[in-house]
Amino acid sequence: MVTKVTRDRVFFAFEPKLSPAIRVGQGEQVHLETHDCFEGQIQKTQDLVDKLDWNHVNPATGPVYIEGAKPGDILRVDLLKVIIGQQASMVTIPGEGALGDVITEMETAILRVEGDQVVFKDKIRIPIKPMVGVIGVAPESGSVPNGTPGAHGGNLDCTLMSEGNSAYFTVGVEGALFGAGDFHAVMGDGEIVVCGAEIQGELHFSAEVVDRLKGLPTPFVETPDLVATIYSAHTADEAADGAIHRMAQFLTDFVKIPLNDAGMLMSLVGQLKFCQVVDPLKTVRFEFPKSVLAEYGYQLA
Ligand code: CA
Ligand code: ZN
Repeated sequence: MVTKVTRDRVFFAFEPKLSPAIRVGQGEQVHLETHDCFEGQIQKTQDLVDKLDWNHVNPATGPVYIEGAKPGDILRVDLLKVIIGQQASMVTIPGEGALGDVITEMETAILRVEGDQVVFKDKIRIPIKPMVGVIGVAPESGSVPNGTPGAHGGNLDCTLMSEGNSAYFTVGVEGALFGAGDFHAVMGDGEIVVCGAEIQGELHFSAEVVDRLKGLPTPFVETPDLVATIYSAHTADEAADGAIHRMAQFLTDFVKIPLNDAGMLMSLVGQLKFCQVVDPLKTVRFEFPKSVLAEYGYQLA
C-alpha cells in the first residue's frame, strides 16, 4: 500500500508539537510531494528575492508519524525514489552565502531540466544528481526552523541524501514526525551561494526502527558503497571535529575496530567533506567505505 502526502501539507520548523499530516506503519511506502525551497514563488528570471515572502521559504512536507517509533529509537529512512520537476531556480543574494561579501547584484536564474541534465543559462549542461536538502525528524524539545541543520537533520544540504541511499535519525518524539523538502536537481558540496538547482519533487520512502543500531551517531547516511556521519556546528572546524569523532565512535562501538586502527583507517580511506558552509550552522560529513566494514564482518542492515 502506498500513502501519498500532497505538497499543501507543509511545515516550517521541526518541533514536537507538529500535528501529523498522516500516520503510517513501519516499512509502509510513502510518497511525499515537495515544494522547492521558495514554495514556488520563483518561476521566472524577473522573480527576484526581494519580492519573496520569507515566511514561505524552506517548506518541508509532512510530518509523517511512523507508528511505533519511540524517543531514542534509530529510524532508518530508505530513500526509494527522488523525483524532480521540470524547472529549477537559483538566486544570488547580496550579503548572503560564501560570496555574499562580494556579490552586489540580486539575480535569478531558471534552469530547465532536459532529460538527465539541467541547462544553465542556455549553455552549460550539467548532469542532474537529485538530492533532498531538508530531511529530518522532530527534536525532543524546542523548535528548529527548516533553514537550520542539526542533530535532528533539517537543512543538512548533504548530497548523499539521494535515491537508493538510507538516512538514519534518532527519534526525538513519539512517531518521529518525519518530513522532507528543499530538493536540488544538482548541488555542489558547500552550496556556495545558498542554493542548489532548487526544484519541486516527490520523495518515495519507507521508514523503520532498527533496534540493534540504538546509540548510532546520527544523522548518519548509508549508500551502496559508504557510510557517513554528519555533524553541524557554528564553525566549520567544530563541524569537522564532530563528524570525525562520530565516525570514530561508530567504528569503535559498532564495528568493534580498536581506536588506533580506526584512526589509521580513517586516515587512509576516510573522506572529510563539506555538505554546506552557508546555513546558520555549517555541516560536514565524514565518509568511510563499506568494503572495510565488510572486512571486519560488519553489516549495517
Ligand atoms: Ca537547503
Ligand atoms: Zn535548497
